[in-house]
Amino acid sequence: MTVTSGFGTRAVHAAQRPDPTTGAVIPALSLSTTYKQSAAGVHTGFEYSRSGNPNRNNFEEAIAALEGGKYGLAFASGSATTATIVNSLESGSHLISVNDVYGGTYRYFTKVAVNLGIETTFVNLSEPANIEAYFKPNTKLVWLETPTNPTLRVIDIQAIAERAHAHGATLVVDNTFMSPYFQNPLALGADIVVHSVTKYINGHSDVVMGVAVTSNEDWHKKLAFMQNSLGAVPSAFDCFMARRGLMTLEVRMQRHAENAQAVAEALQENEHIEEVIYPGLTSHPNHELAKRQQRGFGGMISFRLKGTLDNVNKFLSRLEHITLAESLGGVESLVEVPAIMTHGSVSPEDRAALGITDTLVRMSIGIENKEDLIADIQQALKGAF
Ligand SMILES: *Cc1c(COP(=O)(O)O)cnc(C)c1O
Repeated sequence: MTVTSGFGTRAVHAAQRPDPTTGAVIPALSLSTTYKQSAAGVHTGFEYSRSGNPNRNNFEEAIAALEGGKYGLAFASGSATTATIVNSLESGSHLISVNDVYGGTYRYFTKVAVNLGIETTFVNLSEPANIEAYFKPNTKLVWLETPTNPTLRVIDIQAIAERAHAHGATLVVDNTFMSPYFQNPLALGADIVVHSVTKYINGHSDVVMGVAVTSNEDWHKKLAFMQNSLGAVPSAFDCFMARRGLMTLEVRMQRHAENAQAVAEALQENEHIEEVIYPGLTSHPNHELAKRQQRGFGGMISFRLKGTLDNVNKFLSRLEHITLAESLGGVESLVEVPAIMTHGSVSPEDRAALGITDTLVRMSIGIENKEDLIADIQQALKGAF
């Protein structure tokens, strides 16, 4: 596979080598935990499957090809990926994180990393210059997510990368919302890109898994050591499933974005909607930055209903094609109320500061037919008022 191949070609072919003994086009699921050595210490590259196994290698090589990085490292979940990266830092390190970071990441930084002697400062990074005041001599890492969740603010990766590097800090970008199809943070200066594979990459809501990609040799060594030492690794089966998910990432992402744009535009016209937040709308405050930094606008939409939480609940109960559930990035459309569900653990004051009101609704737009999604939303809104 040459680096000049298109995304869809890489998604299908990267690391897919037909089985040399059977000719199988799809690499077999390899469940063995251990591998025969021909003499003590002489082996094929596999010894024990926590340290490496064929399906994990296959997935890691493929995702690295899609993110434009040298190395992929897979973990048991997106959260395990975060924990493994932070565990690679020395005690006494300081970290700067975007303030509306994924809830589980916030919980890890504030409740777990502190016990390792690692302190985190949360900063609004909408204006990149804001970060300057927060660097300390021991700031080792800057943690970014863009677009943010659930308010979909877009943050300038390149500007933050330059500032982080000027202070000797590593930039990690959580690219879960965009997937490698719409955004490649490494090309914009990030040192490590992470994904909750659970979302768009696997894409079918049936695997929990995470991955980190980097081209930095030192980080690759550190993370490979920690991957084996902490042992928060995915099963061979999950790696097999996630590799299969990657095959269709391009066509799924195109459809997610086409549907999301259509739903966002229809919502904008609806009398019961106060505000629609989607980076693909010209009304979005970061639309121009999103156009420059991303190759598309993704499948996530947030919007505020007029009225109260009671209207929101009526709306949710009337939806027929769109399921009330946490998570995102699957082929099926999901809806949730961040203030009560995914961001319920954020304090009411912080929620207010982040704009997470009770009438804010987040939708992960699936790959169904957009006419059905729009009709469903319109009938549910009509019945909710
Ligand atoms: C879901 C999610 C995570 C955590 O991933 P898990 O696989 O659930 O552990 C991290 N970041 C973002 C943006 C997510 O959406």
